[in-house]
Amino acid sequence: MPAARVLIDGPSELVFDYAIPDGLPVVPGCRVRIPLRNKLSQGTVLDLVATEDLGFALRPLHSLSDPEPLITPKLLEAGRWIASYYGCSIESVIRALLPEAVRTEDNSAKVRKFAVLEGPPPQEVLARLDKRAPKQSAILALLGHAPENKLPLTELGDGASASVKSLAKQGLIRLVEEEVRRDPEADGIEEILPDSPLPLNPEQAAALEVILTSLSSSTPSTPPSPILLHGVTGSGKTEVYLQAARATLDLGKTVLVLVPEISLTPQTVRRFRARFAAIQEQVAVLHSNLSQGERFDEWHRIRKGIARIVIGARSAVFAPLPDLGLILVDEEHENSYKQDQIPRYHGRDVAVLRAHLEGCSIVLGSATPSLESFQNTLDGKYQLVRLQQRADGQSLPLIRILDMRLESKKQKGGMAILSERLRSALEQRLAKNEQSILFLNRRGFARSLQCPSCGHVCMCPHCAVALTYHREDERLCCHVCGHQAVVPRKCPECRDPAIALQGFGTQKVEEVLAKVLPEARIARIDADAMRKKNALRDLLNAFQARKIDVLIGTQMIAKGLHFPNVTLVGILNADIGLHVPDFRAGERTFQLLTQVAGRAGRGELEGEVIVQTFTPHSPSIQFARHHDFDGFAEQELEFRRQFSYPPFAHCAVLTSRSTHERRAEFTLQTLFRRLGENCPAGVILGEPMPSPLVRSHGQFRFQLMLRCKNARPLSRHVQQVLQKTTLPDDVTVVFDMDAWSFT
Ligand code: ADP
Ligand code: ZN
Repeated sequence: MPAARVLIDGPSELVFDYAIPDGLPVVPGCRVRIPLRNKLSQGTVLDLVATEDLGFALRPLHSLSDPEPLITPKLLEAGRWIASYYGCSIESVIRALLPEAVRTEDNSAKVRKFAVLEGPPPQEVLARLDKRAPKQSAILALLGHAPENKLPLTELGDGASASVKSLAKQGLIRLVEEEVRRDPEADGIEEILPDSPLPLNPEQAAALEVILTSLSSSTPSTPPSPILLHGVTGSGKTEVYLQAARATLDLGKTVLVLVPEISLTPQTVRRFRARFAAIQEQVAVLHSNLSQGERFDEWHRIRKGIARIVIGARSAVFAPLPDLGLILVDEEHENSYKQDQIPRYHGRDVAVLRAHLEGCSIVLGSATPSLESFQNTLDGKYQLVRLQQRADGQSLPLIRILDMRLESKKQKGGMAILSERLRSALEQRLAKNEQSILFLNRRGFARSLQCPSCGHVCMCPHCAVALTYHREDERLCCHVCGHQAVVPRKCPECRDPAIALQGFGTQKVEEVLAKVLPEARIARIDADAMRKKNALRDLLNAFQARKIDVLIGTQMIAKGLHFPNVTLVGILNADIGLHVPDFRAGERTFQLLTQVAGRAGRGELEGEVIVQTFTPHSPSIQFARHHDFDGFAEQELEFRRQFSYPPFAHCAVLTSRSTHERRAEFTLQTLFRRLGENCPAGVILGEPMPSPLVRSHGQFRFQLMLRCKNARPLSRHVQQVLQKTTLPDDVTVVFDMDAWSFT
């Protein structure tokens, strides 16, 4: 008899083996109740293990919490992979796999009691009740007229319970309990109008064909290769997704749609709802605003196969859909797919793994594919499909690059915020009653040193990333290799002593705008707007309804928005994202510019994009300007290859944090020394150094970077060292495999 190896719920990660009572259908992934000390606890069965020669009898487990295993074998397998690849505990992964709402026993399906008429009551009974129990007779009449002769008890009037009991006793009605769904969309905030498929243009048709071929050829033993759908902004990727989803449902399979963030992609979600409005109850949208009860219901609706299309952000990659046929990852390049808490998995990468395990098709879509995914197409691991035209036949917007060095000289008085050109373009739109969006790039806290008169940025000679300025000790520091330099008194390029810290925020921009465009209706989207429930949606709706002339926001609103009346998009400080100590800086700037530009001219009207920059010749800006993804990718990949950055190596970051600066630093140095011993061949171990954001939330942070062509040896080595090292109580060490953030 095998025993059940059970991971006990709770932070202490206890794993114990329990004997399985006769006949109990226990398999891995089951939720079970188990005796622990003198209480009953809950846990998850990780494995069935052999129990010969133990020499003692195991305690039997108590019972199954759910009749079915809640985690499917495929998801459990994915969970094991995540734990070993990202170097985190299986317990933390199970937490991600089974949301809190599903794990706790306090949540259960909401049931409602109904009264059902047991057939037409005999005349003499009715006559008797009419006289002696008019309330009962009224209830029978109500039920007689109700659909299916059935009504919830709550609708039978106040104080009906005695009458209902009596009627049931006489055998005239029957009481039943049914599960009801706590429908997250039941408030009916917005009406969704059903729509129907559009006739596809030839590019779209070809893309759909590739997906259909993948769908029909996939079997669990031969998973099809992932498809990268590279479609320029407005090329109609969503229409392709919708029709591919329909085809998958028609094959009797289910569909998982991942979007970067539900609140930031309302239009994509709305389009899925509209297209599948006729089967609304088969669509589940998982978002962070769900109550525990709603989440419980949605999860079980998915698990039971009632919901056949699931739309959600990162964590929805674990949605327990049976018969998965297709996974769609929209905006696959987005950073928000990477979770910045344990388990630090990348939603897109887990989606690819899951598709592989389930043997289903997967489409990664983007106007600006990540270089990781793109390189996979060059290596022949992924299929590349392209949409190069806008679906509405419009041309891509004209992008103008404005040299802010000249502007700063013209305007005198430091760094210019708003160029003449952009100001007059805004005025023109206002006069024509068209709308504008202004983007302010505000990424990271790290500050580089840039000269306002020539645009020169101090770079690391070894790593080709911007050096970070540390105000505390007036020095420049490379956050990849540790190279240090003194702060120059004059610009090394043009000798201007004005080289200094620069930067401005959304508020400042709003002030300046309000001054130059006093009659414009201006609104700002920032992190605060995100926090309040519905505030963001209300703002975007107001913008859609043309109640706002100029919308100012950070890059978080650059995703998937479609406003036909927007004809001008301005990017105020294209440089900020370029000079952060992050090898993806160029890629992110290219993506941001391309995505942002894609917001302009999405209707009948032609769009214009104005990019303000101090480094107009930087390749990411120039390639974005020419809508040249291939050119950008070629040059950027060459740089990545030369310096051993992803996609040519996996890159991980080890961070130590503590309120005690010395201890944080010392701990990381100890780890660095140990990592250096028996370091597997091919691992490039970087020096420990202060994080670009040295102090955050009262803690000091130090970090080091590791790179290796293969992820496994790197991850294993770090985990082994961490296991062998006792950390001081007040130091936290974080390992981030395939890191996406270096601050
Ligand atoms: P993407 O997601 O690639 O940025 P969208 O899917 O938002 O592009 O499509 C842009 C616009 O083009 C939308 O308004 C969409 O309804 C429209 N569209 C897409 N496909 C077609 C088509 N085949 N015929 C006409 N219009 C289309
Ligand atoms: Zn360096």
